[in-house]
Amino acid sequence: MSFCRKNTACLQRAAAGTLAVPVKSQKLIVVALIALAAVAGVQAQTLNVGIAVVSTSPARIRINAEFPKPTNVISFPNAYGGSLGLAERIENVTAREANGQLIAAKKLAPGEFETAEKINQITYDVNLSGLLPPTQHSHVSSLNSERGLLMLSDLLPRSIKGEGAFSSVQIQLELPAGWAAESNTQKKTSSIYLTEEPDKTVFLIGPQLQRKAQRIGASDFSLVLSGDWPIADKDVLKIAGRIVQEYSKLTGFELRRNAVLMLVPFTGDAPPTRWTAETRGNAVVLLLGNQGTAKQIKSRLGIVLAHEIFHLWVPNSLNLDGDYDWFFEGFTIYQALLLDLRLHLISFQDYLDTLARVYDSYLSAPDRDAFSLLQASERRWSTSSTLVYDKAMLVAFLYDLELRKVSACNASIANVYKDLFGSRSGHDDGNQLIITLLGERQGLRDFVAKYIHGTDPLDLAVSVRGYGLRVSRTRAGSQLMVDKPTKEQSKTLKCLEKT
Ligand SMILES: [Zn+2]
Repeated sequence: MSFCRKNTACLQRAAAGTLAVPVKSQKLIVVALIALAAVAGVQAQTLNVGIAVVSTSPARIRINAEFPKPTNVISFPNAYGGSLGLAERIENVTAREANGQLIAAKKLAPGEFETAEKINQITYDVNLSGLLPPTQHSHVSSLNSERGLLMLSDLLPRSIKGEGAFSSVQIQLELPAGWAAESNTQKKTSSIYLTEEPDKTVFLIGPQLQRKAQRIGASDFSLVLSGDWPIADKDVLKIAGRIVQEYSKLTGFELRRNAVLMLVPFTGDAPPTRWTAETRGNAVVLLLGNQGTAKQIKSRLGIVLAHEIFHLWVPNSLNLDGDYDWFFEGFTIYQALLLDLRLHLISFQDYLDTLARVYDSYLSAPDRDAFSLLQASERRWSTSSTLVYDKAMLVAFLYDLELRKVSACNASIANVYKDLFGSRSGHDDGNQLIITLLGERQGLRDFVAKYIHGTDPLDLAVSVRGYGLRVSRTRAGSQLMVDKPTKEQSKTLKCLEKT
């Protein structure tokens, strides 16, 4: 909406709800896309894909996919994280042999198709006009008359073992007049991209995208901005750059790949308190309400990015196996909160208030101690459990406090991250490695056994007593406050703000 204020053509399109590009006949598009594959050359194991925006209102794209070898089974993912029913958006599937002969595709289940003869390519529409909640827009593809976020993980057929398997994808985009695309993957020509990580590839498309990059250490950090913002792109880059530097220092590991932050207004006229984000591969996709003052937006950006940018390291640079979500979500949120404190984005009381709110959220979950953090990580998407966030964050807080106390502030949770980056060797079991690192710190093996392996309930009021803190229950919820700390306890609390 806000973007269109500057752009009459866009305003007219949005108001009239007409198509962003004339609807071309399916035949024409298919011919064009086949020609693309012929020009680009189909490489072995490469899926050649053409994605055309057919219409932005209703939101619809057409995809032509040419397999590296003939196949007769096509399977689309039906879920991503907590978003279900994604394959229902796939419509008008047509399949063709190499000579262009149409072959009937039989739908066996949502997203599952089979053909009697082997086929080389399929064409289908993806209906993106469904009423996906705005909080899902950082996770699943979306399109409107102002912009689109196209995520290959929910748009392309899966690479299933067998003849149709592919390891890379070449993509050509066909966009509405005046639109451009930015991506986190390699650009081969002005409109052709290549990726070896299709599940992590994101395209931000729209008119007048702004891109600005800065060098940080060994890699570039780029910002791609869409829409109107009360702050300048250089302000966003400054905040993000500072956070990247802090995490390089904290982990002792510099990002090996260039990273991209795609910043998009949250759907509807929303304040900056409304946001949704996902860090996928080397891309942080953040939809943030842009209806606020520059100060409000900067402050919220700092807090949100402190968490999301850390995902470029944990888990995305770790290459560990297994479900260790309790660590890369809960512990990461806690570490980001510490960074907020150190960068003066929040006060010490804000830090305590946040932990008290998380404690109330933990207490309100009926299944809060039904599973260990390890089990909760396996079930993250199949239950409504918020354990991997709430309980894991509180466990990180108590672990950090204890480690600072026993080491007289010579160690903190930051050391665990440094150890992790120093000792990982790729494809280790994430849970095993992290639990070993956490447990080998002095006197903390039992703590790990109780709260990470085990299902011991957390009683914050009891747990924080030894640190000069107190929990009191009020009508508004729990309050966490400093309470007559000894000299030693004061020292531990003070060092929270420094490292
Ligand atoms: Zn996260």
